[in-house]
Amino acid sequence: MRNKLNLNGIGMTSQRTRERLLGRLMDQGINSMEVLDVIRSTPRHIFLDEALAHRAYEDVALPIGFNQTISQPYIVARMTEAIISSGSVDKVLEIGTGCGYQTAVIAQLAISVFTIERIKPLLNRAKHNLRLLGLRNIEFKHDDGSAGWEEKGPFDAILTTAAPQQIPKELLQQLAEGGRLVIPVGIDERQELQLITRQGDDFSTEILDAVRFVPLLVGQVQH
Ligand code: SAH
Repeated sequence: MRNKLNLNGIGMTSQRTRERLLGRLMDQGINSMEVLDVIRSTPRHIFLDEALAHRAYEDVALPIGFNQTISQPYIVARMTEAIISSGSVDKVLEIGTGCGYQTAVIAQLAISVFTIERIKPLLNRAKHNLRLLGLRNIEFKHDDGSAGWEEKGPFDAILTTAAPQQIPKELLQQLAEGGRLVIPVGIDERQELQLITRQGDDFSTEILDAVRFVPLLVGQVQH
């Protein structure tokens, strides 16, 4: 399942730089062709300020304002691979839209994506970027996403791009049978990326990586 991007009028940066990024992701163990293809075709530079756009295809997190960052491509690939590896996903919930890069990647692989961001100007920028790419299977919400989005659930996958100290139980409850939650958990440099799979009322946990995400802030919405 692939939703096609509209790339008309979006300046392409050097193909060579992009291929180098793909090589790096493969070297680090990303082997899903679907994920690699989507990363190859998604223009990351449109999600960045002009002054940083030339660094868009480096495998690093970069600032997007409001003390937030665009995730490192390797992490986006790893999280996406973890949720699609069991087969196709219909409904995905993302918490922490940021500039919308991870949203763009997952929206090309899922039927529908629901995404929540607590900082209004970032959410507006993400909406603009994702419309520019012609991705229409996304619903947005300006809110604290730590309790998920119950009315729209259950979800085949939930991914959180900000780290709580403990997994909010609402997110586990909103997973469909066999559903997967990919979430960084912990404080500062002691975070781990966890993959939780639901089987009935059992939840199994796999640790994927040591990571460093911004904190998931609870109970605060910024206008
Ligand atoms: N997904 C982005 C990364 C965004 S960084 C990408 O693809 O690059 C994490 C985002 O989570 C920030 O924009 C931050 O504002 C947001 N965030 C933090 N706590 C949140 C909460 N409780 N609810 C919703 N969004 C939150």
